[in-house]
Amino acid sequence: MGVYTTTNPATGETVKTFPEISDAELQDLITRSEAAYRSWRTTSLDHRRAVLTRAAEIHRERGQELAALLTLEMGKPAAQAKGEVALVASIYQYYADHVEEFMADEHLQISGPGTAVVRTEPTGPLVGIMPWNYPYYQVARFAAPNIALGNTIILKHARNCPQSALAIEQVLTEAGLPDGVYLNAFISSSQVADAIADPRIQGVSLTGSEKAGAAVAEVAGRNLTKCVLELGGSDPFIVLDDADLDTAAKAAAASRLTNAGQACTASKRFLVQSGVYDEFVRKFVEQAASWTPGDPTSSDTKLGPLSSESAAEELDELVAGAVSQGAEVLLGGGRTDEDGAYYRPTILGGVTPGMRVYSEELFGPAGVVYPFETLEDAVELANDSPYGLSSSVFTSDDEKAQQIAASLETGMVWINSTSKTAPDLPFGGVKRSGFGRELARFGFNEFANKKLVRNP
Ligand code: NDP
Repeated sequence: MGVYTTTNPATGETVKTFPEISDAELQDLITRSEAAYRSWRTTSLDHRRAVLTRAAEIHRERGQELAALLTLEMGKPAAQAKGEVALVASIYQYYADHVEEFMADEHLQISGPGTAVVRTEPTGPLVGIMPWNYPYYQVARFAAPNIALGNTIILKHARNCPQSALAIEQVLTEAGLPDGVYLNAFISSSQVADAIADPRIQGVSLTGSEKAGAAVAEVAGRNLTKCVLELGGSDPFIVLDDADLDTAAKAAAASRLTNAGQACTASKRFLVQSGVYDEFVRKFVEQAASWTPGDPTSSDTKLGPLSSESAAEELDELVAGAVSQGAEVLLGGGRTDEDGAYYRPTILGGVTPGMRVYSEELFGPAGVVYPFETLEDAVELANDSPYGLSSSVFTSDDEKAQQIAASLETGMVWINSTSKTAPDLPFGGVKRSGFGRELARFGFNEFANKKLVRNP
């Protein structure tokens, strides 16, 4: 049987391991989840609101302690880890505050006599499969709306953040969630497939790589199980020649380097109109160079290590491959001399379609800059990606911004800002970035039964 392991990526030290559970134990979890669903779905909204509010409070009260686990397990800089915990508190609070509104019956305007009402009801036990890059946030945006709705959850977290995974279960239990409503499961990929195939499971949500998404969607499809996928992104960041270049360069560096660049909605491809290309690149390089890699436990550190040695190696392979094919290193371009999974802030130019970095996701502190001439060129280049998650446009001309926004094949567009997440904003993509939406009312409805009750 495999293990789940806490390895400190800043030192490479293995801190703690946890064994996977057996098939019989997984069956027991599914049974508990199903039993819990039968009663949780009937609990009052007041009860659910109280549990979610308490979960938010616990995150606020124990911000420091919860954040420290993120820093330990995936190298997130302390200040960013605290930011993630605060964001998560706001997600639990948001669904506590909105559950009544989102559960309210919808009375339809119909042409015939009588009434037609759409009720919002839960559907049953769900499986969540979540990644290590934002261990609490990725779970919260799936768990909070579904707990509010009345569904129950079995959560398989990434195997490199087991202590964060256990902390989530503990916080929710302490917040008053009854046994079985949220269950952590240290299971293998094949056990995930067994769980999805179980007829008691009514849905599955995965955030992660395309490979994992395709594997899960295949099993879900075979078993006719509803699935939501939030996969990778290679978000374009478009700078027009009338943009405020200082603001844009600062935003570009922050978007590319926060969380050591390990975010699906980080800006990864920087498309710059030719008239301001040189000036923007100079400012971007200057900004990015100020993000010095350092100890993630220090409150001053903005750029910590990558989440694992293998993540740093994979990024290095992509960058080195592009350089060997003629890409130009404008900044960085490799590992630091320290031990640990550190990588220098890196910017590449001269990238062409034959290189892997042109079409693949750079999941680390490395970005690519491209010049363009016209707005049409920018849109064409931006859309020339298998992904379609988020995007940014920097310009002082709102008409042009709206025109570009309408042409981008992405699930989200941010004007004069980089992509951010908030409880009240829907999040999700198109193309190979996945399907379905998380957060806001949209995320609440993904695993809801929108039941029509017609009374002629
Ligand atoms: P994975 O997609 O492998 O991991 C994400 C989650 O999926 C983990 O819980 C993992 O479990 C699980 N998983 C993986 N394969 C399967 C499977 N066949 N069946 C069921 N569950 C599975 O991401 P990696 O950590 O390997 O990262 C690789 C790349 O994925 C990154 O470089 C990035 O491009 C992308 N990624 C995107 C994220 C996003 O936010 N959209 C987040 C993380 C990664 P386990 O840990 O046990 O393998």
